[in-house]
Amino acid sequence: MNDDAPSTPHQGTLRTADSLIQAGLVPPDQREALLRVARDYATAIPPAFSNLIEHPDDPIARQVIPDPRESTQQPHEDVDPIGDDALSPVPGVVHRYEDRALLKPLLICPLYCRFCFRREHVGPGGGLLSDEALEAAFQWFEAHPKIREVILTGGDPLMLSPRRMEKIISRLSAIPHIETIRLHTRVPVAAPERLTPALLDALESDCSVWVVLHANHARELGHDARLAVRSLLSRAIPVLSQSVLLRGVNDTAEALEDLFRAFIKARVKPYYLHHLDPAPGTAHFHVPVEEGRALLAHLRGRVTGLAWPTYVVDIPGGKGKVPLGPDYLLPQSEDKNPQRQVKAPNGTVHAFT
Ligand SMILES: *Cc1c(COP(=O)(O)O)cnc(C)c1O
Ligand code: SF4
Repeated sequence: MNDDAPSTPHQGTLRTADSLIQAGLVPPDQREALLRVARDYATAIPPAFSNLIEHPDDPIARQVIPDPRESTQQPHEDVDPIGDDALSPVPGVVHRYEDRALLKPLLICPLYCRFCFRREHVGPGGGLLSDEALEAAFQWFEAHPKIREVILTGGDPLMLSPRRMEKIISRLSAIPHIETIRLHTRVPVAAPERLTPALLDALESDCSVWVVLHANHARELGHDARLAVRSLLSRAIPVLSQSVLLRGVNDTAEALEDLFRAFIKARVKPYYLHHLDPAPGTAHFHVPVEEGRALLAHLRGRVTGLAWPTYVVDIPGGKGKVPLGPDYLLPQSEDKNPQRQVKAPNGTVHAFT
């Protein structure tokens, strides 16, 4: 497949077990099992994604096609894996850190990732905050002057209509202590056609507006996605990336290298590589932390530093995100010698002061 060719319009979004069977993406004998999965979790595969699927078991397909294993829950898995619910002062707001808080204006996504940490909440049913709830959220931000940054997430904020987006951005921008508005989104890769001039106009603000693009495989960053990123950059909106380390999707050194290089090629700065959050029915995506650290160590020194993300875990229970390494500084010696030892990218150990 030539990723430089503009994609041609394809069929609509696939949402049901029957449409997946018809499209040849799942075998008919999985129908019952997938109907069971569908009772708990939404499915949506928009054309921009279904067009990328080369095989029903490839790294694109695995992210979005429901799997009977999703009905199996492990003991450590939790419907609220990072403790968002306990940290919500008003509906739609999640406040964990002093200088920033999340605002979730809706729970709709352009596609439903099978490993999503909010999978118990997101879905096409909406979760659109009512005007009253939005107003209560704005008032909460107004009453909390330590908050400098509002992080719009969901769901996917770029699924909002331009009108509603404009209202949210302008209302937040008018709060004197809000300096930054950040949007977490999958739209540039999953539904790039949504980034119309009207939606881009709605993102205009005197605040500094940033976008964090969620993508997990290099093939997601084809021609249309790169154009969508450029449309954001053309509005002076820097674009960063967020990915999840996923078994069967990007769990090899080559796949990660290709992904981070594809971000740089698309002018996107890799920001976070997440360790998988333990949401229900996602254990088949889990990659142990030692494997993640080794994969990243393999890139260090070989791949441009621009492409380097921070590998993080969101500590269960809402305790925050922290880096998982790999780290290169060796522990200090007992004698408190000011000279320290550090590991080079090639594994050799060296002293420095
Ligand atoms: C992830 C998250 C943030 C953003 O964290 P950064 O490290 O700034 O990207 C903020 N608030 C909550 C509740 C979060 O879960
Ligand atoms: S786009 Fe984000 S919130 Fe939506 S399903 Fe995927 S991971 Fe979950």
